[in-house]
Amino acid sequence: MSVKDRFFLIFYEKDEKCRTDITYVLLAMGSLVVHIVYHIFFIKHNKLPLIEYNIFSVFFYLFLVIFRKKIQLDKFTIVWNIEVMLFATLAIMKIGFGYGFELLFLILMSTDVFLMNNNIFVKMLVIFLEAVIFFRLLISKKFAWNFDPAVIDFYILNFLAYFFSVNVVNYASLSFFEIKNKFENMKLVEEKERYKKIAEYDALTGLVRKFYMTQQLDEAIDDYNGGKLDNLVLIFADIDDFKRINDTYGHPNGDIVLAKVGMIFKQNFRKDDIICRWGGEEFLILMKNVRKGFAYNIIDKLREKIYKQNFLFDDVNVSITMTFGVCAVYDSKIKYEELIKTADNLLYEGKYSGKNKVVYKEI
Ligand code: GH3
Ligand code: MG
Ligand code: MG
Repeated sequence: MSVKDRFFLIFYEKDEKCRTDITYVLLAMGSLVVHIVYHIFFIKHNKLPLIEYNIFSVFFYLFLVIFRKKIQLDKFTIVWNIEVMLFATLAIMKIGFGYGFELLFLILMSTDVFLMNNNIFVKMLVIFLEAVIFFRLLISKKFAWNFDPAVIDFYILNFLAYFFSVNVVNYASLSFFEIKNKFENMKLVEEKERYKKIAEYDALTGLVRKFYMTQQLDEAIDDYNGGKLDNLVLIFADIDDFKRINDTYGHPNGDIVLAKVGMIFKQNFRKDDIICRWGGEEFLILMKNVRKGFAYNIIDKLREKIYKQNFLFDDVNVSITMTFGVCAVYDSKIKYEELIKTADNLLYEGKYSGKNKVVYKEI
């Protein structure tokens, strides 16, 4: 993220209004500076009728700068519009066209579209009213065009005010909307990731769900059959007599057991092994690249660890056991259903022959 993005993001995160803070501060300070310079010009060129009003404007912007934290952009825009319009009208009425005060109307008409938060009709109405006042002054015979030598000083100052205001507002507004879009896109991506995670992971154990596992298993079988993988080990694991744990110590304690088993699995398998809560208290684990004969020992150690894990339920020390069906594929091509069925049969064999064991088969 660029420095500019980060800068605008600070404002965006604070509040929707804040675009504003920066636009507001620049406009209020810019206006204050312009009015101070006006004052010098009015005195220098002896434009007495405007000096008094300009004192009011200087204090007005001083107030807006000092209390900038208390005033929102919306309100600032309204008072700013009124002040600029009054000042421009008064200046044209007192000293006429040509000094560039007519440009102040253009500032308002070019920036209101970005600054006003109201609906489009209100914006258009204000802009239209400003245009009407401007033309009313323009067609009046009373306010002539000037050829005073001071015209150029004022014109340059008013031109700078116009140039500064319109470009600052346009730049700040565009940057704000750009960063707002980026930020919202970031939020959408984060949200997508979050939903993906919810869809892929089981909340209780933190392990992947069945749908994700079937995809991964499908891919791994293709890789193995296509020669990209040397071997595959599929493990079915089931908690023994889990129903009894639930019945004796309650469902919430059953959940604690499931979460703990998930944690032990995560700690004891490798990063690339895929561990899935296949359903209920049944787990399916896919390992790749395991040396021949190693899988049995790995799983048997895990079985022991689970057996040694103590749970304290209702002041009773409780331990659980698990049975594992392990099918290691090294030599023959295999189909998805066949692999699942073989591992499941091995698990069943383990349950049938007394539980708390690993039944291992290499094919
Ligand atoms: P076996 O040794 O043959 O596997 O017996 P078992 O009691 O473990 O198997 P059975 O299939 O009879 O019971 C499984 C129990 O797991 C029944 C079900 O209520 C419980 N169970 C499934 N999902 C959850 C869960 O998310 N939380 C809890 N606490 N229990 C669950
Ligand atoms: Mg069970
Ligand atoms: Mg079961």
